[in-house]
Amino acid sequence: MTTTGVDVANAFFLTFMGLWGMLIGSFLNVCIHRLPLKQSVVTPRSRCPHCGHLLSWYDNVPLISYAVLRGRCRSCAAPISPRYPFVEALTGGIFVWHVLVFGATPLLAVRLVFACALIVLFAIDLEHQILPDRITLPGIVIGFLCSLLLPPGPLLSLGGIVAGGGILWAIAEAWFRLRKVDAMGFGDVKMLAMIGAFLGLPLVLLTFVLATMMGGIVGIVLIASRRASMATALPFGTMLAVAALIASLYGDPLLTWYLSRF
Ligand SMILES: [Zn+2]
Repeated sequence: MTTTGVDVANAFFLTFMGLWGMLIGSFLNVCIHRLPLKQSVVTPRSRCPHCGHLLSWYDNVPLISYAVLRGRCRSCAAPISPRYPFVEALTGGIFVWHVLVFGATPLLAVRLVFACALIVLFAIDLEHQILPDRITLPGIVIGFLCSLLLPPGPLLSLGGIVAGGGILWAIAEAWFRLRKVDAMGFGDVKMLAMIGAFLGLPLVLLTFVLATMMGGIVGIVLIASRRASMATALPFGTMLAVAALIASLYGDPLLTWYLSRF
């Protein structure tokens, strides 16, 4: 292929993946809405939670339906959560970003599955402060199985599961004994074990450090703006999701840069 041919093929692939990401984002919205309610994400078809109006395919076109309907149900005009177009656009953007970093490789597919799990956990933790087992537990298994053939490899993946789960479990135990309060639900423990399964050692440790730093910064900002007291529990899963995404995309260069300073 000529250079132009390659460029056109790349542009086509990027566009395709961006649109595919928005469609997947539409499905992730269903997961985000239904998993906390312990409902099936496959059946039945989506309805307006307000009036029960059954959504047609043209009510489900990512971004466009929300824009055409101006954020309201076609039948009862109840407002549709802005979370829907936000998650669709975010997923599309994250898909394109992954293609730019990983190219058309087998690892791209694995890291996209991982990113989808992180988006769902991020949104559910933000809204409900829970991290459903139906995402984290299969995530641990899938991450490990993929590592049999792809980076980080089975040994580092296993190390990541043990280290990821172990660190948070130890902190939660220590905190509980010290303060007699449950600082972190064990959802965080299972989530970091899942991150360990996909990213392995040492990236799971980098994720934990990044998430703690972000949590600290967000906490300081909230306290400074008097919007939260020290006792308010920040959803740590949301920090873990953002940190894991950064570690998945840029963890290796970040670690290389950090270690080169010594
Ligand atoms: Zn309605």
